[in-house]
Amino acid sequence: MAETVRRYVSEAGAEAFNDLRIYASVMPEGNPPIKMLGRLPSEECGCPEELWRIEGIDLLFHFEADGKSEAFVFAGDFEAETTLTARTLNDLRAKAFQWFADIIDMGEDTSDG
Ligand SMILES: [Zn+2]
Repeated sequence: MAETVRRYVSEAGAEAFNDLRIYASVMPEGNPPIKMLGRLPSEECGCPEELWRIEGIDLLFHFEADGKSEAFVFAGDFEAETTLTARTLNDLRAKAFQWFADIIDMGEDTSDG
């Protein structure tokens, strides 16, 4: 059975879905489950940092071009950090999202699923 979908469509998403789907009449609705809050150079060293909000939890990561990048999760009382090795900012983003899923999914209650 398909998972229940919490619906979200942006203005640009409505346009794209209406191009992609044959019988579609998609309207913008809902709030995004994932949102990029910003990308700025670090205050200390100027490396790129990105801040994302994923289902209400903040994920920040700091790209170090020479290898050892850092990622942080801020979820109210719960905080975590890790070091990730990434070739590029895109690579770090993918790895930071994977790390996020690994630590957040472990903490979820799946007993009634
Ligand atoms: Zn740096």
